[in-house]
Amino acid sequence: MGRCLQSLGKRGIMIETERIRFLNSQDIKDRPYVVYWMQSAQRVEYNHALIYAINEANRLKKDLLVYLGITDSYPEANLRHYRFMLEGINEVKSRLETLGIRMIVCRCSPEEGMIVLSKKAALAVVDMGYMKHERAWRSRCASLIDSRFAQIETNVIVPVETASVKEEYSAATLRRKLDKIKDPFIVLPEEEDYLGAYVSKELIPEFDISDIDSALSKLEIDHSVGAVDEFKGGTAKAKELLDYFLEESFLYYSSKRNDPSYDYCSNLSPYLHFGQISPIYVYIRALNYETADPDFSDSRKSFLEELFVRRELAINFVYYNPLYDSYECLPDWAKKTLAKHSADLRPYIYSKEDLERGLTHDEYWNAAQLQMVKNGKMHGYMRMYWGKKVLEWRPSPMDAYNTLLYLNNKYELDGRDPNGFAGVAWCFGKHDRPWGERDVFGNVRYMVYSGLKRKFSMEKYLDKVK
Ligand SMILES: Cc1cc2nc3c(=O)[nH]c(=O)nc-3n(C[C@H](O)[C@H](O)[C@H](O)COP(=O)(O)OP(=O)(O)OC[C@H]3O[C@@H](n4cnc5c(N)ncnc54)[C@H](O)[C@@H]3O)c2cc1C
Repeated sequence: MGRCLQSLGKRGIMIETERIRFLNSQDIKDRPYVVYWMQSAQRVEYNHALIYAINEANRLKKDLLVYLGITDSYPEANLRHYRFMLEGINEVKSRLETLGIRMIVCRCSPEEGMIVLSKKAALAVVDMGYMKHERAWRSRCASLIDSRFAQIETNVIVPVETASVKEEYSAATLRRKLDKIKDPFIVLPEEEDYLGAYVSKELIPEFDISDIDSALSKLEIDHSVGAVDEFKGGTAKAKELLDYFLEESFLYYSSKRNDPSYDYCSNLSPYLHFGQISPIYVYIRALNYETADPDFSDSRKSFLEELFVRRELAINFVYYNPLYDSYECLPDWAKKTLAKHSADLRPYIYSKEDLERGLTHDEYWNAAQLQMVKNGKMHGYMRMYWGKKVLEWRPSPMDAYNTLLYLNNKYELDGRDPNGFAGVAWCFGKHDRPWGERDVFGNVRYMVYSGLKRKFSMEKYLDKVK
């Protein structure tokens, strides 16, 4: 497929047309400003939606307003997630200020604020979200906004519908498609200066987030899951972590990333989740990173596979499978084999509360749970083991499924993400193939304690978590 570009702005800024979708059939109106509703891409850098909005504002000679709505009832979010997000938003707000762009942050259901602001908008712009509630918000706006409403896809390398028109069976099937079309999308959008100056002042009541503790204390959210010291939100921090990863860990990524006693992963997932860093930027930095070590190409290949194919497979899953947040999303072979073995004797059964508190007989599992509860991020390899064991230790596979989603989305800073739904589903056979049959798991792949003990220095992991 050839590169398909839309030329915008006076410097001829290019954004691929595949990233642009008009969500209604309204015209641009003669009104004071262009409004960009920043929802899933909470960054200034390499944000196609922001660039599109800047260019349109310049072209139409209108003001530009960036809007972000903070709701007290974002699905499954708690203080931990809100703090990380607000740290990032404060950074965005001050970066936009230096560009002469006003950002207003409101405490309201995000789509409600957008509907109000769109009444004076010549053009309304939003980034793309893949989860049910994000899509429902956009649909509601599309039916109520009476000026043109453009959605720009910026949080993936290849736009989801361009990558595939259906739910993919596995990484292999998606990879084949992505390999054929990816190259034209691995390009950073050119950024352009905003030429206007936002003048109108009063619009809708703003929510002051300059003092994050004070803002958090006002929000009626779940305060029981505390913020984490380990990760601070924002693009600057994400880029710092990326630099560190490239310099210190990247070389060992393929050989050591699975060893929980080390930390050779990028730790970028919370930042990617909140859209605080562009996946295209991360991809290009990793692609272009040079080292003299001959074994390095394996690491580069593995990292790009995770960042691109696996991550976009998860997005393909939630986008095309409306049951992504329930047990029903599993492939038929997996549901069948798990049903056949649902009455098998479980070696241990733990209550949801005991699991949440990390009170099992398995110290590796408990450590993984503790790592997630305390640090907000479990090691990637341990997530697989953690999930497989819950399948083994809950009374039914469906119960295990719901328990895992609950724990994952409550404690992981990167939780409530397509990757989390795909990761949990993977533990039950999604995107995998049938293996040899055994108790409880049937043909679903299993993992064992002795495997961890044999392969890794698990004592070191226990010490690290403690
Ligand atoms: C049970 C279970 C639950 C999971 N829950 C989440 C979750 O809530 N949020 C989340 O972002 N990831 C989740 N994952 C996927 C994966 O474990 C994490 O993305 C990864 O550990 C994040 O750490 P990192 O950024 O250091 O990863 P790196 O190894 O440095 O990888 C770089 C990026 O690639 C992507 N990536 C890596 N592994 C995967 C994968 N297996 N599937 C999809 N994308 C991947 C992520 O965006 C990640 O940030 C889950 C996996 C399992 C098995």
